[in-house]
Amino acid sequence: MKKNKYLLVILAILAIIAIIFVVLLASGKINLNKNNGDKDPVSVVDTNQINDPIVVEEPEPEPEPEPEPFQEYDIHIMAVGDNLFHTGVINGGKNADGTMDYNFEFYGISEFLQLSNIKIINQETPMAGNELGLSSYPTFNTPTEVGDAIANAGFNVVLGATNHATDKGVNGLINFYNYFNLNYPEILMVGIHGENILSTLPITVEGDEAVKYVIESDGTASDIDPEELIDSVVLNDAYDYSRIGLLNIEGITFAVLNYTYGNNTEIYPSSQEGHLDLLTTYDPNSRYINFTELNPQVIDDIKLAETIADVTIVCPHWGVEYTTTPTQYQVQWAKDMTAAGADVIIGCHPHVVEPVEWITADNGNESICYYSLGNYVSTQNQAALNLLEAMAWVSFHVTENGVQIVREDTGVVPLVNHYLFNPLRYRYTYLLEDYTEELAVSHGILGWGGIQLHLDKLQSLSNEVLGGMVLSREQIYSQFDDEIINNLVPAPAAGN
Ligand SMILES: [Zn+2]
Repeated sequence: MKKNKYLLVILAILAIIAIIFVVLLASGKINLNKNNGDKDPVSVVDTNQINDPIVVEEPEPEPEPEPEPFQEYDIHIMAVGDNLFHTGVINGGKNADGTMDYNFEFYGISEFLQLSNIKIINQETPMAGNELGLSSYPTFNTPTEVGDAIANAGFNVVLGATNHATDKGVNGLINFYNYFNLNYPEILMVGIHGENILSTLPITVEGDEAVKYVIESDGTASDIDPEELIDSVVLNDAYDYSRIGLLNIEGITFAVLNYTYGNNTEIYPSSQEGHLDLLTTYDPNSRYINFTELNPQVIDDIKLAETIADVTIVCPHWGVEYTTTPTQYQVQWAKDMTAAGADVIIGCHPHVVEPVEWITADNGNESICYYSLGNYVSTQNQAALNLLEAMAWVSFHVTENGVQIVREDTGVVPLVNHYLFNPLRYRYTYLLEDYTEELAVSHGILGWGGIQLHLDKLQSLSNEVLGGMVLSREQIYSQFDDEIINNLVPAPAAGN
């Protein structure tokens, strides 16, 4: 019995051990799987996550899109002086078959026409219509083919207010005006106005596109189909606005104003009023011009331009012929224009270059003033000085804060008007830096005017008058990316 008792105790212990084993097995505390050392990815749980309260996470807010940084850019103006079409210049473009072609007139400055946004030329002599007969000094009528060449070259501003604008009467002026507006509405013509005083309509240029606009009486601008330009435009306060040419270049608005001191007579006839913008005043009864008084309309126009445009360019036709020093009136009026808001002043008429200066008005306003760019072409023969001319170059930088002139990139490029003699004909416009003594001694001014030209004479004249404002080709190229310079289309070289 004692043996049985031991057996019972042993069985009981074994039973308890078996129960404990089964319980432990069921509760998972013992794992019989031989691979229990291997991690089963499905069964691995993060105990922390289990213990955390369940949180429905807010979706991550979309990050605010970074505002596009303002792309700063530059705008450049180039301007040349009097396109003065003497017979020798007309002859330079005559072909053997009787046709005329003046595209070559601008080959010498083609690189700067390609590089600039605003391209201004002073058309000294009117294109009154070839059917009226072409003529030279003293009452000019210039071939309309010159207008075609101006357009082909890419000029987008033509200054019309000169002392010769009415050489063929008001009708000649109107023909001149209409020729550009009907054929080249993308060109802004300022200073003169056709029958329809709605003349100077704003132009917007974006890339290669140029669009003309009408300014409505409420100051808004609307598109116009250039085809309908002359007949159907209706503009309130037309004459006030038509004196202010507007060019919107890549989002910056430039106003261009142009006035002449007179019309080669002492009288401003009522027939010219509204057609030719006058820099000076006149007696409303006798209509005699007072050449020593600035027309207050000019100042009013500049102030009006300032309310419309970011930059105001004023182009006065003024000064004394063959004089390289500005008169007291030019100096005073440039100051008055600057005080009123002119940012750039580009003068023409004296047939010779005059200095380029930064002007500060008493009210602190500043401008760059080119007192005279001289001739662009002519066959004048009085002096070597007639052959030296200037191309204005004004650079602007646009930031999100607005537009500013870049002083160190602004100045003047001296040019030489090269014509030949026997027969007398305009040939080419060179940069002074490219001109040679060989060309100088072959210049037609020797035969035509008895003046022996030398390169060092031209250089000393340039230093004397234009001095420290001269820019070289290299200095202008340095304002552009290499890619732009490398892609310039080379112009044909000078012919014979
Ligand atoms: Zn003139």
